[in-house]
Amino acid sequence: MRSSLEKLRKFFRLEHSNGYADSAVIGGLAKILDFWEGEARNDGLPEDLIQSVGAVLRGYGDLGAEARAEALKGLWKQIGEKLPEAAPDGRHASKVPPAVPPDAEPHPDPAAVADRVPEWVTDAAPAPANEVAAAPVPPPASERTAPRPGPKGPGRAESRPGGITSKTPIALNASLTVLAGVGPRHAAMLVRLGLKTLGDMLYYFPRRYDDYSQLKPIHDLFYGQQVTVIGTVISVHPRQVRGGKMSILEAVINDGTGGLRLTWFNQPWLANRLKVGEAISISGEVQQYLGRLVMNNPDWEPVEAENLSTNRIVPVYPLTANVTQKWLRKLIHQVVAYWAPKLTDHLPEFIRRSADLLDLNTALLQVHQPETQDQLHAARQRLAFDEIFFLQMGVQRQKRDWKVGTGRIFEVADDWLTTCLAALPFALTEAQRRAVAEVRLDLRSGAPMNRLLQGDVGSGKTAVAALASAIVARSGAQAAIMAPTSILADQHYHTFVNLLAGGEDALHPEAIRLLVGDTPEQEKEAIRSGLASGEIKILIGTHALLEGPITFSDLQFVVIDEQHRFGVEQRAALRSKGTSPHLLVMTATPIPRSLALTIYGDLDLSVLDEMPPGRQSTETHVLLPTERERAYSLIRGQIAGGHQAFIVYPLVEESEKSELLAATDEHERLQKEIFPDLRLGLLHGRMRPDEKDAVMLAFRNGQYDILVSTTVVEVGVDIPNATVMLVEGANHFGLAQLHQLRGRVGRGETQSFCLLIPDHDDAVENGRLAAMAETNDGFVLAERDLQQRGPGEFLGTRQAGYASSLRMASLSDIGMIEKARLQAQNLFERDPDLKDPDHQLLAEALQRFWSGGKGDVS
Ligand code: ADP
Ligand code: MG
Repeated sequence: MRSSLEKLRKFFRLEHSNGYADSAVIGGLAKILDFWEGEARNDGLPEDLIQSVGAVLRGYGDLGAEARAEALKGLWKQIGEKLPEAAPDGRHASKVPPAVPPDAEPHPDPAAVADRVPEWVTDAAPAPANEVAAAPVPPPASERTAPRPGPKGPGRAESRPGGITSKTPIALNASLTVLAGVGPRHAAMLVRLGLKTLGDMLYYFPRRYDDYSQLKPIHDLFYGQQVTVIGTVISVHPRQVRGGKMSILEAVINDGTGGLRLTWFNQPWLANRLKVGEAISISGEVQQYLGRLVMNNPDWEPVEAENLSTNRIVPVYPLTANVTQKWLRKLIHQVVAYWAPKLTDHLPEFIRRSADLLDLNTALLQVHQPETQDQLHAARQRLAFDEIFFLQMGVQRQKRDWKVGTGRIFEVADDWLTTCLAALPFALTEAQRRAVAEVRLDLRSGAPMNRLLQGDVGSGKTAVAALASAIVARSGAQAAIMAPTSILADQHYHTFVNLLAGGEDALHPEAIRLLVGDTPEQEKEAIRSGLASGEIKILIGTHALLEGPITFSDLQFVVIDEQHRFGVEQRAALRSKGTSPHLLVMTATPIPRSLALTIYGDLDLSVLDEMPPGRQSTETHVLLPTERERAYSLIRGQIAGGHQAFIVYPLVEESEKSELLAATDEHERLQKEIFPDLRLGLLHGRMRPDEKDAVMLAFRNGQYDILVSTTVVEVGVDIPNATVMLVEGANHFGLAQLHQLRGRVGRGETQSFCLLIPDHDDAVENGRLAAMAETNDGFVLAERDLQQRGPGEFLGTRQAGYASSLRMASLSDIGMIEKARLQAQNLFERDPDLKDPDHQLLAEALQRFWSGGKGDVS
C-alpha cells in the first residue's frame, strides 16, 4: 500500500480507537492535510480522491462521533473502490457487507457490533494495548443473547501458572473494549461516565436503588396513602368530555393482588404511550371515587419487566446520552459477577475484623446487586471505610515525610517571651497562649513546623503569627506572611508593627515591611535589597511576594493567612523561597475537629476557641421579608450614632452578569429610594481586585456609611466601626457563610447586629437561620452545618481535591471517619511504608487512590 494511504489508515485507526474524539492529531484530524495532500500527490493518488479526503477531513471536527465514524468509513470505502490495494485483503471493497447504520443506542449484541467495526480497523488490527484485549473470540451463537461473563479472553489473573489468583488484578486495567458487546464507540460513550477500565466499572456505584422487594401490593393500599405500586396495564380508555374541551384518560392496572383505576386529565397523548400488557410503576396519592380506590394524574414510568419477578433491589446507575440503564446495568453486572469474586481483598484481615467490615468481594457484589437492604448498607460501609482509610494513610504519610526534613532550631528563653508578652497592648487569651506555646515547641523541635492555626473570626490569630515571627526574627532569620488581599496585608502590617516594634528588645520598624501589588517600584527595590542583606526580618504582603525577583537571604518561617484563598502552587511557591522553612497556615473557617483531623490530618492543629475579652456578642435576628423596614430603621439609627453597615445580597443566579445586575440595581434602589441622604458604596464580584480593595479601603476610612455587596465581603477585614450586617436572601447561604458574614461586625466594643432576611416567609422557620440566632459560636455552628449539609462548605479548595476520590464516604459520617482514622493510625505506626508482604496489595491500592495528583496539601 502506498505510504500516504498507510498513513491515512494509521490516523483513521487511531481515531477509531480513540472513539472518534478527533484526538488522533493535535489540532484535529484536518491538520494532517498540511502534509498529506503533498505526499498523496507524490504517491500518485488520483486528484479527485485527494480532494475528497480533503473535503471530508476539513469538516470532520464539526461532526458528532457517530457521523465521524461514518465519514471515515465512507471515505475508506471510496478509496478502496478506486484503489484495490486499500481494500481489505486486496479484495474489492464492494464485497464487504454494507456498513450497518449507526444505532441510536449501544447494542449489547457482539455480532452486531463486530459488523460495525470498520474494515480498515479489522483487516489488520493494530497491536492490542494489552494482552487481555488480544483475543476477540466471537462467542458461539448460542451464547450471543445470554450475558457473557467477563472479558472475551482469559485475563492475566487466570493465566498465571499454577492457577493462583493474581495478587495484582492487572486485568482490571484492561480497556472496556475487552467486554463482549463493547466496541470503541461504546467505549467512547462510557468514557463520558469516567469508565475506562474494568476496574472503573467495579467502582462505578449506583446513584440509587429501586427496591422491588418492598413493593406495596394493590390490595393493601388505603385511602390517603402516598405510594409507588407496580402493575400491568389492563385497559386504556381515552374519552372526550365537555364537548371535546377536555380529555380524560382512564387506565386500569393490576398487580395480581388487585386492580387500581388511574385517571389522567388533558394528557391525551398518554393513550399511545400506555400499552396494554406492559408493566408500569405508578406514584401518587391513593384517592377514593365512588367507593373505589383510584389515583389521579399519577407519575408513571415503564418498568423493566424482568425486574418485577426478581423481587430484588435493582441498582440505578448515572447515565449519559446514548447509554441506557438496561444496557449499562447488564454490562456492569457482567463485570461485577465475573471479577468481584476474583479480587483479593487489599485490606488486611485483622483490620476487617476489628473494624467489623465486609470483605471486598462481598461488598462489591452487594453494592451492585444487593440481596437485602442490610447487605447493601454493610457494603456501602465497607467501601466508604476504604476511602477514608486511604485518605488517612496518605495524610499520615505526608505528615511523616514533612517531619523527616530538618528545620532550623529557634529557641527563646521564658524570660524573653514574658517580656515580649508584657509589651503587647493586651493580654493574650488562654487559647492564644496555648497556640504560642505549641508553635514555640515546633520551632525548637528540629523538624519543620507544619501547623494549622484555626480560630473563629476575631479570635486573634494575627497576634500568634506575629509572636512566632518575632521568635524567628530575633535569631536573625526571616519570616514571610502572605494574605489574600492587600487590605488584609496592610492590616497585618500595622498589627505586626504595633505588636513587635514597641518594647526594648523590639524589632526596628524598618525590619518589618509591606509588599503589595501597588507598592511603588522604588520601595520594592529597597525591599529587595533589604531582604538580600537580611536587614528586613519580616515581610508581609499579598501574592506580590511571589512575583518578580523577591529573594530572601534566610527565610525560615512562612505564614499563610486565610489559607483556603490560595492555591497549592502559591503556598508551595512561597515556601520554596526558603529551605524547609517552618510553616504556619491560618484559617477562620471553624471545622469540626473530626473533620479537621481527616482533611488536615497532615498538619498539626492549634485551635483558638476563645474570644478576646470585652467582645460583645452580635445580636442576631431573623426578620420576615415584610419587616425589612425595621432593618432599615435600625441601620439609620446606627449610622446616626456614627457607625456603618453592610448589606449583602446572595448570588442566586450563577451567571456573573446577573450578579452585576443585582448589585447595581439594588445599590441604585437603596441609594435613591431608601437612603437618599447616606453614602452607599458598592462591591461586586465583577470588580477587579484593586477596585475591590479601593472600595473596602474607602469604607474602612469612613467614606461610605453603607457597603452594598453581592460578593461575600472580604474575609478577615477588620472594620470595628461597622455594627450592622444585613443579609438579604439569607436562606441561600450556608451556616458557615452566614457565620463568616456575621464575623464582619462585632469587632469593636459596641453592640453589633446581624439581621437575616430570607426570600420568603416560610424560610423564617429555616433551621439554619434559627441556629444563627441561637449561638455565636462558630464551632457549634460548624458541627450543625456538618450534620445538616455535609462538609462541602468548610473545605474550600482542599476538599475539591478529595471529593473525586470520595465516592462512597460521606465526610459527615463522623463515626466512620473516627473508625477509619484510628485503624489507619494504628497500621501506620506498625508499618508506615507498608513493607510487610501482607500489606502489599494495600500499598498498591493506596498508590492508585493517591495517584490523582494530590501532592502538596499545605
Ligand atoms: P483573626 O483571628 O480573625 O485574624 P485578628 O488577629 O484580626 O483576628 O484579631 C482581631 C482583633 O482582636 C484585632 O483588632 C486584634 O488586635 C484584637 N486582639 C487580638 N488578640 C487580642 C487579645 N488577646 N485581647 C484583646 N484584643 C485582641
Ligand atoms: Mg485574620
